[in-house]
Amino acid sequence: YDKRTLSAHAKKNSIEGNAIDSAALSMSYFESRLSMETISLVKGFDAVSCFVNDDVNAEVIHCLKQQGVNTIALRCAGFNNVDLVAAKKEGIKVFHVPDYSPTSVAEHAVALIMTLNRKTHRAYHRVKEGNFALEGLLGFNLEGRTVGCIGTGRIGSAFCRIMKGFGCKVLCYDLYPSQELIDQGCEYLSLDELYQQSDIISLHCPLNESTHHLIDKNSLAKMKDGVMIINTSRGALVHAQEAIDALYSKKIGYLGLDVYEQENEIFFEDMSSHIIQDSVFQLMLTFPNVVVTGHQGYFTDEALNHIAETTIDNLLHHQNE
Ligand code: NAD
Repeated sequence: YDKRTLSAHAKKNSIEGNAIDSAALSMSYFESRLSMETISLVKGFDAVSCFVNDDVNAEVIHCLKQQGVNTIALRCAGFNNVDLVAAKKEGIKVFHVPDYSPTSVAEHAVALIMTLNRKTHRAYHRVKEGNFALEGLLGFNLEGRTVGCIGTGRIGSAFCRIMKGFGCKVLCYDLYPSQELIDQGCEYLSLDELYQQSDIISLHCPLNESTHHLIDKNSLAKMKDGVMIINTSRGALVHAQEAIDALYSKKIGYLGLDVYEQENEIFFEDMSSHIIQDSVFQLMLTFPNVVVTGHQGYFTDEALNHIAETTIDNLLHHQNE
């Protein structure tokens, strides 16, 4: 999908762009993840375009520079997989696609909530087996529920607006509160107050040192019993083992994940071998009140087109800035 969308936009650019643009872009696509094992593939290229599953650490960056690469164009918003300090030191420019479709990810977070609150994942499997019994499928309304949003940037803001539309009380936490959201009736509180009052908590902050394992046994202890946790941001925001403990104790009533701590090994590599090795992930999938998707929040037609367009634009027009 990525190759098809990127090629279409590259072609569009060379047809519609000027002669310099069309001459400037010669592109090759490799299936492998960028790592020290695959670094020789980039030899002779001026730029590499990476995704969330590429491990662009300091060693890789040093080798990229040695191979003549001067630009990294990420096809994603988050850049926690790139050592930005090393890139700066080596003089390699790093571009990302900051706002390709906040709506896509926000809507996916809502889709996870609505799968869990009406147990549609379980209902679907039952109906496929010819079982129309409703036992165990009792749901709850979203209207009137209190939803906590941690991180109210592009995606978090879109998420808050949708939840307001459902008639939820929306509580927010961010280092930089948004006046627009306050004007729309959202309320900013301390993190602890948000934990104490929310029925549903959705994570929309970046992964960094201060947010690593934000959801762990300490923060969970402050939350309501049976809280619903949704993570579409980055896997390591949630301590997987401690989330499982909280599922056993019923502190977490529902868990919806689009991202997972070891997702590079699990979602993007050979599933059959890696899924068996990650026993925590395997255990998580056994809970009926857990729904996991494989980092597909961004995966809409609209978002892919926007990613391809911005990536090609970054490669063609901003390399020399
Ligand atoms: P953004 O930069 O627009 O917003 C992030 C917000 O988090 C900002 O308002 C920032 O102030 C806030 N923040 C930073 N540190 C915080 C902290 N310690 N506590 C609370 N808030 C904090 O980013 P975005 O475009 O909204 O993306 C959010 C995250 O979603 C990205 O970092 C990325 O990891 C993830 N994402 C996931 C997918 C997917 O497919 N699942 C796609 C795109 C992005």
